[in-house]
Amino acid sequence: MGAARDSSFGNASVAQWNPGAVLESLYMAHTEIAGLTKAELSTFVEELGEPIYRGQQIFNAVQHRRVRSFEQITNLPKDFRAKLSERAAISTLRLESRYVSSDGTRRYLMKTHDSRPVETVFIPEERRDTICFSSQSGCPLQCTFCLTAQLGLLRNLTAGEIVEQIIVALNDAYGDGVKTPRGTNLVGMGAGEPFLNFDALLKAIRIVGDPDGLHIVPNRVTVSTAGIAPRIRELATIADRPHLAISLAAPTDELRNELMPINKKWPLDELLDACKEFEKSLKPGERFTFEYVMLKDVNDSDEQARRLANLLNRHSLRAKVNLIPHNPAEPLPYQPSSEERVESFREILESKGVHGFVRKPRGRDILAACGQLAARSTSQVSIQQQPR
Ligand code: SAH
Repeated sequence: MGAARDSSFGNASVAQWNPGAVLESLYMAHTEIAGLTKAELSTFVEELGEPIYRGQQIFNAVQHRRVRSFEQITNLPKDFRAKLSERAAISTLRLESRYVSSDGTRRYLMKTHDSRPVETVFIPEERRDTICFSSQSGCPLQCTFCLTAQLGLLRNLTAGEIVEQIIVALNDAYGDGVKTPRGTNLVGMGAGEPFLNFDALLKAIRIVGDPDGLHIVPNRVTVSTAGIAPRIRELATIADRPHLAISLAAPTDELRNELMPINKKWPLDELLDACKEFEKSLKPGERFTFEYVMLKDVNDSDEQARRLANLLNRHSLRAKVNLIPHNPAEPLPYQPSSEERVESFREILESKGVHGFVRKPRGRDILAACGQLAARSTSQVSIQQQPR
């Protein structure tokens, strides 16, 4: 319904790294340029016997102008470009399909050099557009309401693969290298658990924040975790950190164990203690968010709303709660709560001093919405009719 597919993708350079078996083994020796900081790029070119400023030139080309091949960096000598192509790759993600939702949301299904699926979503919004990136191919967590869980963990993505997702989405949305009109927000809410790939995640955030590159500062980035408590505590200690969101989905351990098995490892009290610790690192005006997927007749009763509010109040957390209507996808056994139910749930939270916001689903018709990323192409998609 209104979903369009365009697997040709006008920008051929995105698809240029096309590995066969031979290329695959060669790839191992290739350095992923998009995953290098400016300092690392300087060292890299030095090791190739070139002056440091060549590193800055490459950084500028890849991270600022968002070029996708060495041939396009015409201010580098030709023989140096040839040498670089032998040892490094700028574009390692290959675009398989691009889906456009009736609401303008775009989903990119890509493959890594070793054929692992990577999905990225571009969400146009009135004030500022958002790019939702993946931190892992598949996901090891087994949240029962999320389709990505069905893939299992294929592997962690590298910092370069995280950065490349953003470059591909920006180039497609605004044009190759064209400056983003209103800036862009990033959310680490795609496939995978970002806090189980913490180092690569933080490195990618450092790289995209570089003022000589994409210049998307950590203040414009939000990462979402299913509740890896030690990493929440660690994030709190990082000076230039992104914002935090935590997926709750249930107000009791009993139900959360069932919906999000990671809860058995870090139960609610432990998780919320870590959140309390994180709260100390909040800047003036900054808040963090709890996400609560609304599953019809499972976690959406008035009683559960009261319990949720009491739980947050007991830990005296000043966070807000985003209520996300469940995005249905075969074969998940859930239905979204009705609008009235969500509103009633929200009002109960408010009456107890907890701010609740209802999130509008985006890109459901192309399986781009929260919890729907499972590397599916439209031929496998049964498009859900949405109530208007
Ligand atoms: N692993 C991380 C990030 C990915 S999930 C995490 O759990 O936070 C991003 C958000 O999508 C989470 O808040 C999750 O609760 C929500 N989500 C997952 N499946 C969903 C579904 N089917 N419908 C609506 N939201 C869903």
